[in-house]
Amino acid sequence: MELLQGSLIQPHDDEYESTRKVYNGMIDKYPSLIAKCKDVADVLHCVNFGREHNLTVAVRSGGHNAGGLGIVDDGLVIDLVEMNGIRVNPDRETVRVEGGCLLQDVDHATQPFGKAVPTGILSTTGISGLTLGGGLGHLSRAYGLAIDSLLEADVVLADGSLITVSETQHSDLFWAIRGGGGNFGIVVSFLFKLHDAGMVQGGPMLWHLEETEEMMRFYQDFILKAPKHIYCYFAFLTVPPVDLFPEALHLKKMCGLVWCNVGNKADSEAALQKFRDFKKPALDYVDSMPYASLQQLFDGLYPTGLQWYWKADFIKELSGEAIQENIQFAKKLPSVHSTVHFYPINGACHDKNNADTAWAYRHANWSQVIVGVDPDPANKDKISSWAKSYWEAIHPHSAGGAYVNFMMEEGQDRVKASYGDNYSRLSQIKTKYDPKNFFHVNQNIKPT
Ligand SMILES: Cc1cc2nc3c(=O)[nH]c(=O)nc-3n(C[C@H](O)[C@H](O)[C@H](O)COP(=O)(O)OP(=O)(O)OC[C@H]3O[C@@H](n4cnc5c(N)ncnc54)[C@H](O)[C@@H]3O)c2cc1C
Repeated sequence: MELLQGSLIQPHDDEYESTRKVYNGMIDKYPSLIAKCKDVADVLHCVNFGREHNLTVAVRSGGHNAGGLGIVDDGLVIDLVEMNGIRVNPDRETVRVEGGCLLQDVDHATQPFGKAVPTGILSTTGISGLTLGGGLGHLSRAYGLAIDSLLEADVVLADGSLITVSETQHSDLFWAIRGGGGNFGIVVSFLFKLHDAGMVQGGPMLWHLEETEEMMRFYQDFILKAPKHIYCYFAFLTVPPVDLFPEALHLKKMCGLVWCNVGNKADSEAALQKFRDFKKPALDYVDSMPYASLQQLFDGLYPTGLQWYWKADFIKELSGEAIQENIQFAKKLPSVHSTVHFYPINGACHDKNNADTAWAYRHANWSQVIVGVDPDPANKDKISSWAKSYWEAIHPHSAGGAYVNFMMEEGQDRVKASYGDNYSRLSQIKTKYDPKNFFHVNQNIKPT
């Protein structure tokens, strides 16, 4: 690795312990080498080195993958975290983003122009993993998934070549990386289209858990018909015992909505008022704020190193029976940090069909994630078994697969279910670009 400009970290180095850690404190893996790449040449060098020495290779950008797929035991970690350059082109309304950027880096660069890339809901997540899996969040109903704003990407392939993919160059691979994860190569740079998102009306509105059934029904009717620029995801949570919240609500399990309305303020006010009139919220913190501030609102609650275990499903409809199952498990939220989110994926996400990109669940209306989180490793089993039994109860009411970015390591059947009818085409493209499955530390699509 003498050609590497960045640092190469090995088990005997002082920074090895801190560098091998990822966001999920439950993941405890020991790579042989961690290469902190400085530029594309470093990435090319690492790929060639890994292939020539027959090493298992993991690729890490934001390190947020809950299943720990950005790191690997014994092998080589190609770490992009120092490749975080960004350039906005205001005339073309595009932004060029290097692979190691976090969502907060992208927001920082684009917000001065009143613009944003539609990404997620927590600013510390990596743009690469999020985008390659699809990318859903506050702006999904307005502008679609992150992949729907992707115009071009530079990809380092398993054979050590660098190619640019777009609608007109290697269009098969461009199709596959829009949802197919890190299966096909290492994306060193993305070109995104920008959208208007300066000030938004956003923040949480909460109701008592006993009011869940009527709130969920009302929410379902509302969000399936709401204008695209209105967004709110449904959540179960426990109110943290901190000054920000009224003491009377501390540690109460509640249901609620987190809003992010862009554009027309009158429409937004009307939407908020509908919910306030239907049932007065016990807490109403919705306000005007910059989009970037909304994306950072919950960062402090979820620092690096907590124990995470999550399970997910796509949902078409919240039937009466499904609502009851959800309520039963929401009552048993196992810790203050544990939560459940239903992210709407209708609106602009439905402007494309399942076959248009690798992301195969555009016919669904929500991506649900059941999140067991706790700072204490001693509670690892408690949060995991709650998430597993919750999932077993609600899975029969789901659309089948799950958002790959909300999965742990769950096996091949689950990966296939999540790509549905797109799996065989993905497998053919994998065979063309990575026939030996060099990139397999991911939700793996097997070559044919
Ligand atoms: C707290 C939290 C909040 C989240 N919120 C959202 C959200 O709002 N919306 C959403 O859609 N998802 C969300 N996610 C899920 C997130 O999208 C995935 O965890 C994603 O894998 C994170 O990307 P990363 O770059 O940080 O991950 P990493 O752990 O660095 O990598 C994850 C996977 O992506 C692959 N990969 C990473 N970088 C590259 C690259 N440059 N080229 C090729 N492959 C690469 C890796 O091989 C690995 O398989 C959240 C996750 C967490 C933990």
